[in-house]
Amino acid sequence: KASPLGSSVIPIVNKLQDIFAQLGTHSSIELPQVAVVGSQSSGKSSVLEALVGRDFLPRGNDICTRRPLVLQLVQTKSKSSGGSDDEWGEFLHLPSNHRIYDFSEIRREIEAETNRLAGGNKGVKDKQIRLKIFSPNVLDITLVDLPGITKVPVGDQPTDIEARIRTMILSYIKQPSCLILAVTPANSDLANSDALQIAGNADPDGHRTIGVITKLDIMDKGTDARNLLLGKVVPLRLGYVGVVNRCQELSYSMQTLLLLFTIPSLFVLDYLDSNHIRPVLDILLNRSVKDALSAEEKFFQSRPAYHGLADRLGIPQLAKKLNQILVQHIKALLPDLKSRISNALVATAKEHQSYGEITESMAGQGALLLNFLSKYCEAYSSLLEGKSEEMSTS
Ligand code: GDP
Ligand code: MG
Repeated sequence: KASPLGSSVIPIVNKLQDIFAQLGTHSSIELPQVAVVGSQSSGKSSVLEALVGRDFLPRGNDICTRRPLVLQLVQTKSKSSGGSDDEWGEFLHLPSNHRIYDFSEIRREIEAETNRLAGGNKGVKDKQIRLKIFSPNVLDITLVDLPGITKVPVGDQPTDIEARIRTMILSYIKQPSCLILAVTPANSDLANSDALQIAGNADPDGHRTIGVITKLDIMDKGTDARNLLLGKVVPLRLGYVGVVNRCQELSYSMQTLLLLFTIPSLFVLDYLDSNHIRPVLDILLNRSVKDALSAEEKFFQSRPAYHGLADRLGIPQLAKKLNQILVQHIKALLPDLKSRISNALVATAKEHQSYGEITESMAGQGALLLNFLSKYCEAYSSLLEGKSEEMSTS
């Protein structure tokens, strides 16, 4: 089961990597990195986690992300077993052969390593934590989870905390190759969004900024985010996607305690499937990312205000938007690749002429590759124009 991010791009990238390998060059496809920006507790870590499809980032209502987390996804060859042992994490600060298969242990290590440098009292540091996630279901892409913008210093934070965090965020998102997910909760004022403000600083044309509206599920009664999503409040070139992430998790002992008292009533509540009890269920059942996605879908279906906006709603849609940008990026790399193949063709043809008669033509193999590539070019274009959702992998 592929993670939402990259599900349609993985076959393309794999094919191209194969072609690179056959051409005997060391270069490979460099995908842009994706960073999340926004105010504290707006849901940045939750959005990244949902995109990766695994549950491993520290999240909560307090300041949780206190050092930049550079998350490098690394695609491994798929094993037939498909078991839980084919996905693991490795930290740069730990020995390189130290594989962590338990994703809740990965979260604990992020927290421990955050405390080691930034202290236990809300301090923020710009030294990165680097984590690689190995999985057959991911693209080779880098995601950056950044501390949120805060205004008032708390704990060990210096008085100029806001300026420091802004500088840190800008150092990532001002890179022209960085895609920006600007995260704003639906229950705050979009016109005053820290996320849109800082993204606008780094990317004034809005070519690489996607607006993400979180917490649609906890808006005031009688209000909805329809106008926000339609870009009627603050227009954004690449538009907005509204999402519903999971709510805060309780400590393990708290969960157990609550579970003991509420299991009988839960079945009744689950049957009613009311949106009011969804948060309770999330917490109690420690809902997985996958379950959260189907809960998200149900939420949007149950709200008439969101009907007709399917292309702006949900984590899968956000992943699709990102995929489209990635495909565009890959498409830009193709002309260069094509000319390198032609050059290789000419070179081998010349070499073969000098040998006289040949049986198994190397040039023919090159032509085959070129043929492959042209087919893929066409497929990219139709993917971009939205004619076809899936790429053929044959
Ligand atoms: P960050 O500080 O921006 O990284 O925000 P987090 O991802 O840590 O989320 C902050 C808190 O808001 C956590 O308790 C999340 O569980 C909760 N949260 C995030 N997104 C949503 C959402 O869409 N709906 C609800 N109800 N809670 C959310
Ligand atoms: Mg965070």
